Amino acid sequence: MTAKQKNLMDVISALAKRRGFVRPTSEIYGGIGSSYDYGPLGIEMKRKLADLWWKQMVRKHENIVGIDSAIIYNPRTWVASGHVEGFVDPLVDCRQCKARFKADDLVEHAKRAKGVDDPPLTPDGSTLDPDHPSYGQLSCPTCGTRGSLTKPRSFNLMFKTHVGPVAEDAAAVYLRPETAQGIYQDYPQVVNTSRLKLPFGIAQIGKAFRNEITPGNFIFRTREFEQMEMQYFIRPGEDEKWLEFWKEERMAFWRDVVSIREENLRFHKHGSDELAHYAKEAWDIEYNFPFGWAEFEGIHNRTNYDLTRHIEYSGKEKDLQYFDDQTRERFIPYIVETSAGLNRGLLAILLDAYAEDDLGGETRVVLRLDPKIAPITAAVFPLTKKDGLPEIAREITEDLKRNFNVFYDEAGNIGRRYRRQDEAGTPFCFTVDYQTKEDGTVTIRDRDTLEQPDRPKIEELPRILFDRLSL
Ligand code: ATP
Repeated sequence: MTAKQKNLMDVISALAKRRGFVRPTSEIYGGIGSSYDYGPLGIEMKRKLADLWWKQMVRKHENIVGIDSAIIYNPRTWVASGHVEGFVDPLVDCRQCKARFKADDLVEHAKRAKGVDDPPLTPDGSTLDPDHPSYGQLSCPTCGTRGSLTKPRSFNLMFKTHVGPVAEDAAAVYLRPETAQGIYQDYPQVVNTSRLKLPFGIAQIGKAFRNEITPGNFIFRTREFEQMEMQYFIRPGEDEKWLEFWKEERMAFWRDVVSIREENLRFHKHGSDELAHYAKEAWDIEYNFPFGWAEFEGIHNRTNYDLTRHIEYSGKEKDLQYFDDQTRERFIPYIVETSAGLNRGLLAILLDAYAEDDLGGETRVVLRLDPKIAPITAAVFPLTKKDGLPEIAREITEDLKRNFNVFYDEAGNIGRRYRRQDEAGTPFCFTVDYQTKEDGTVTIRDRDTLEQPDRPKIEELPRILFDRLSL
């Protein structure tokens, strides 16, 4: 990571903290690693991203509906889903300095290890082989001590807790590590109540929890995060077609709806060593983060894996099969999932929007956010605090507030007020001046071009905003 790149992450997290987007949680007690709170601007933006996703995925499709399921499910869910067994990361500890590594992160280290001709890897080179004769010769990447690394130990990423008042007697349960399983379990009821026919989708936005070993990079990887997931139920054999369809749809969302720059987006196809236990084929949508390209949404062909397992573990074969009333057949549908991280998506959008403009010697910090996602849609300023201008500006604000998040500001000179909105990513500023009193028009200043085109009439302002905000 170059200094400049590293710097952008620091710059964004400092701006986020300063302006009330995102800040570390529980700061009065020194925080708790990688947990964050969303402030007034952050929550507006997060809700907007979630709403845009919901509009695009649920409202625009007649055959996609939403649910909101519980976070704690019957723990059998996670045995059936394979997460109790398969959702593990092998970890390696250094006995000397106590540093902890994901075994997978040590593969490259092992390949380059000095004095080790035959690296201690499995024959396909994808993971560490602790039984290999040269394993004991590896040194710790942190403190350099040779032979100090433990063998990889499995560590389940699910948070375990107990229901009931006494921990020992109570049943162990897990906080869900993905929202998908809630959808799979509810799908027969949703089909009945909404009279869905294949292909159809069920969507959900909600919290998921993973006891990540290496959280970090600000809100990129946290232990508590939100997912926006849609499970698309299809006929067996149609999975490749729909995987392709949803890949393109989802990429279009990030590119065209929230306007992340195309050059910073790409697909990555999972190799066989990267595939999750449930997936037949998986594609990531990656963003060019300051620390490198990394996933923020996955599109997965989960086949009939999950439903088959739930049938096996619940015994509810008939319920979990789909009945086609035309062909009179019963079968287990296939599923293509789109699984996006709300927080990671937000981070990508913030990074992508950040700019520093040189305005003839003065640097202007601006977030070039798409108006659909900007926390504040418009700011309204009276040019001065007297002569009735604040009253008019307040009236405009009140009217616009019925549909938009609008901010009224009369403090400081107009240039300062503009800068404050630039940093928050506010796309439009309306200023009430003396001409307003004469002809009922205001100035409209464009955040990106800094231009003030024609003066619109006050009555036109809602329409101007609606036009820029609709999908
Ligand atoms: P990674 O490889 O980065 O751990 P993953 O492949 O395990 O991610 P998925 O299980 O496909 O991720 O989850 C779908 C999406 O959920 C990810 O693309 C990401 O946006 C989000 N996500 C997953 N884990 C986290 C996390 N710890 N913090 C924030 N977002 C996450």
